[in-house]
Amino acid sequence: MTKTEEYYFCNNCKKNFDSKDKICSICGEKSKELYIKVIEDIKVKESTIGKLKNLLSNFKNHIKYEFFQGWKKSKDKEKHPEGINLLRQIDRGKDEYIERCVDISSGKEFVNKNKKLSEHHNTKKK
Ligand SMILES: [Zn+2]
Repeated sequence: MTKTEEYYFCNNCKKNFDSKDKICSICGEKSKELYIKVIEDIKVKESTIGKLKNLLSNFKNHIKYEFFQGWKKSKDKEKHPEGINLLRQIDRGKDEYIERCVDISSGKEFVNKNKKLSEHHNTKKK
């Protein structure tokens, strides 16, 4: 099942824009960007994927906000035979990257990241 929600952001200060407002209540900017949040529920094992995307653009980096929550198969089958419970949240507006992984069989959290998205990309390159 897929659900969609619409969001508007001010082109200038990137704050939430009420769709009824003609100008931004914070900075007075007249132009706004439309983002659409797409939520897909995957029924096999419970997990949810969400994306907040600029409809006017097809470029991948125009996805403003992404999240994944739920069960995921682990690459390391010896360590996590039953898979993991993953929470991943990427917010390009806030420059935020959050990742939490919990091993299903032990219930122990083994990854807990909360950092700047720009720093996350820097460490990936190394
Ligand atoms: Zn504004």
